[in-house]
Amino acid sequence: MITDYLRPTSISEAFETLTELGPAGRLVGGGTELAIHPPADVSTLIDLSAAGLRFIEADETFIHVGATSTLTDMLEYARCATSWSGVVHTMLRQVASPLHRNAATIGGHLARGRLSDVVPTLMAVDATVLFFDGEHRSVPIVDFYADNLKRNTIVVTGVRIPLDDGEAAFRKFARTTYDLATLNTAVGIRRTGEEVTWARIVVGERPTLGMPLPEASELLVGKPLTSDSIARASQVARDTVDVRSDPRGSAEYRRHLAEVLVRRCLSEIAGEEVFA
Ligand SMILES: Cc1cc2nc3c(=O)[nH]c(=O)nc-3n(C[C@H](O)[C@H](O)[C@H](O)COP(=O)(O)OP(=O)(O)OC[C@H]3O[C@@H](n4cnc5c(N)ncnc54)[C@H](O)[C@@H]3O)c2cc1C
Repeated sequence: MITDYLRPTSISEAFETLTELGPAGRLVGGGTELAIHPPADVSTLIDLSAAGLRFIEADETFIHVGATSTLTDMLEYARCATSWSGVVHTMLRQVASPLHRNAATIGGHLARGRLSDVVPTLMAVDATVLFFDGEHRSVPIVDFYADNLKRNTIVVTGVRIPLDDGEAAFRKFARTTYDLATLNTAVGIRRTGEEVTWARIVVGERPTLGMPLPEASELLVGKPLTSDSIARASQVARDTVDVRSDPRGSAEYRRHLAEVLVRRCLSEIAGEEVFA
């Protein structure tokens, strides 16, 4: 049962409190997840809202987003609507409802790390997660999940999105606007002239967390984005994505969706006419 509610005023104080309490303590961002699934073994909530982490700012190379910024804060930040073809903005508009986005924080979302449209998109734009585990650390978002960190023992402090000439697109297939995705895809590329120099195709809600598909991505590199390369990469995405069945969709259907949505993302980046 929850008996105590603390509001530390710094990152280090939040981390020390979390470490002292061990499994009896839990950080709170927007509380949207904790309110629905209150953990049985937790007696103390550690609210991060006074820890100075609600900010979004840009310098010449990055957008820096503090962990207690809400999804609405990000949605309303102009650079999220212009960099990487505005993909972060496009994706956030499709996350749950406006009321939910007003409360949910980016730090809570990243720490939770499941059922996510946000994580695949941040992977596709080559973002970096910042966290504090006694030291301030930063890791590429792909490694943040691959490393299997114990995310309930650290304080996620923010995320950093590179500001370069990258282009990106996001597609989500869900039964209704407010449903979680049956599958989503996010694609980011960097080009020099016509030639693709970097590509990352990510498929999420497989139904597990977003997964980059290196084989499909590498097919795009070193050549212009053409109908042929788009078709080939989409087929390889279909053949290499790791999917399974759950009540929202069968593995077979998800595999088909992966091909279609990756093709639509790539076609959008190539400037071809595509379905929404
Ligand atoms: C009804 C509903 C619909 C949803 N629909 C979508 C959707 O369409 N697309 C999508 O992508 N997502 C969706 N989500 C997921 C949602 O976006 C996340 O639940 C939300 O972002 C979590 O953020 P929060 O700040 O409320 O987390 P909280 O509930 O505060 O915390 C979640 C977890 O993270 C921990 N935590 C919080 N902040 C930090 C921190 N800074 N550092 C370390 N740990 C921390 C908490 O201890 C807890 O374990 C949905 C969720 C719900 C409930």
